[in-house]
Amino acid sequence: MPTPHGKTWVEVSRSALAQNAATLARAIGQKVKLMAVVKSNAYGHGINETVRALSKAHVDWFGVDALREAKIIRETGSKKPVLILGYTPLAALKDAMRSGFSLTVYNHETVTALGRIASAKHPAKIHLKLETGTSRQGLLAKDIVSFAKTLKKNPHVVVEGMSTHYANIEDTTDHAYAMSQLSRFNAMVRAFGVAGVTAKEKHTACSAAALLYPQTHFTMVRAGIALYGLWPSKETHVSVENSGKKMTLRPALAWKTIVAQVKILPKGSSVSYGLTEKLTRDSKVAVIPVGYWDGFDRGLSSIGHALVRGHRAKILGRVCMNMCVIDATDVPGIRIEDEVTLIGRSGKEVITTEDLAGATGTINYEIVTRINPLIPRVLVA
Ligand SMILES: *Cc1c(COP(=O)(O)O)cnc(C)c1O
Repeated sequence: MPTPHGKTWVEVSRSALAQNAATLARAIGQKVKLMAVVKSNAYGHGINETVRALSKAHVDWFGVDALREAKIIRETGSKKPVLILGYTPLAALKDAMRSGFSLTVYNHETVTALGRIASAKHPAKIHLKLETGTSRQGLLAKDIVSFAKTLKKNPHVVVEGMSTHYANIEDTTDHAYAMSQLSRFNAMVRAFGVAGVTAKEKHTACSAAALLYPQTHFTMVRAGIALYGLWPSKETHVSVENSGKKMTLRPALAWKTIVAQVKILPKGSSVSYGLTEKLTRDSKVAVIPVGYWDGFDRGLSSIGHALVRGHRAKILGRVCMNMCVIDATDVPGIRIEDEVTLIGRSGKEVITTEDLAGATGTINYEIVTRINPLIPRVLVA
């Protein structure tokens, strides 16, 4: 097969993204909005490509980490509302507000700065982030009254939403802590109400909460990982299955490269930096032009695999910056420029994002988000 995308590329399935969005929309029901979280280059899937692929899907909002990403969404032509989930520096507020994006806010300083630049014609739309136990971004319950005062002094700063984020919903099948956060959220929303501050949108659920607990849905859920066809964790998958729900997610991403060289080396040859691995038999090895710079973790040295012609080939020795070497002894007919799969299927073999996460001691989220954004993303059926 010819390789029009250079020596490595990421294939993203439109139909998988659309199907996962439909699965999520069905799970939350028609009355709840779906925010597609496309931060971190759409979890490595390519923000531009993902937003385009979702243009006809049941997606109501987009969520990003930063202004820069929000602007990429507009460049695709999408007019859907965008919420910036992360911190927006004070110096960037004017740009963000003028561009019409909604901002996550939890500091008095941000409200005051927005108040100075907002007007009746250009109101600032904010979502208050409430601290309920994750101890990350969010305003404390004890500050509600003073925050409400700051808001009253800045009438063109409009509270469009209130939100929180769970600390311990993916990592466990015991959701008592998440439920305590949920009740704290409800109490804080009520306290804001007493102080005269209400919001149209209320949202707390990431993928795991969206799939497990309808009481976390409120008016909208913020789904990232599930949209890409990946389970937030084994625990979430087990919890959903135990609840009797039938739900299939389809991984949307495959990562490919090609063979750069094939050669025969004698038993005893050392392969790659540090002489960490010696061939235990006369071997056919293949060089593949992907390394840790590309996001192929150095922790995969000597333990990872690649797929060629439907066969599994082990990584030999250290993963280098821009390349690594695989054992192709058992890959019949392997040739230069054969397609190589790093994540995805080849014949009957498959390497999942979870396989790579397990091998390197991390989570599927990190594996996909760290695929170098400069590698081309190609939309496929
Ligand atoms: C990243 C993020 C999400 C999405 O989480 P998933 O587990 O990927 O669904 C939701 N909300 C916030 C605030 C986030 O930062």
